[in-house]
Amino acid sequence: MASDPAGSIKIDAVQLIDGRVYTLDGVDIGTIYAVNKDFIVVKNGIINSHFYYIPVDNIQKWNNGKLWLKTTKQNVKKDYEKDSAPDPSAYYMKENPRHHETYFPSFVVIPPKTSPQAHEGERDQHKLECDLCHASFRTQSELTFHIDKMH
Ligand SMILES: [Zn+2]
Repeated sequence: MASDPAGSIKIDAVQLIDGRVYTLDGVDIGTIYAVNKDFIVVKNGIINSHFYYIPVDNIQKWNNGKLWLKTTKQNVKKDYEKDSAPDPSAYYMKENPRHHETYFPSFVVIPPKTSPQAHEGERDQHKLECDLCHASFRTQSELTFHIDKMH
């Protein structure tokens, strides 16, 4: 991850929902459907929809309702596409607004390296599992570290 605390911006999860998502090569891949500390879930298509589980590390910038990724469309499809919808107990989404104020009060686009333990106290509230490869973890910081390194 590019460590650039000066460029960090904090965005409330509510603002991200329904934002359009663009790949590095400028392809519109859908809208933001769910958000948590580790992933942005993009929904593509209304019938036969796919979901892209984009690690937050892969975000280049958020600009005026548009989210830009660091990867190309081809790589997004190869690495992050899934058919299953996100687990509502682990994500903030419109249908499940409670996470907005409890587990995911805000979303850091470029997370500063200096505050990794922010949610440590709430770690047993849901199963900690990587949505891309299904590895499981004991703490939120371990999961975040895994996503950072592996995806
Ligand atoms: Zn994983």
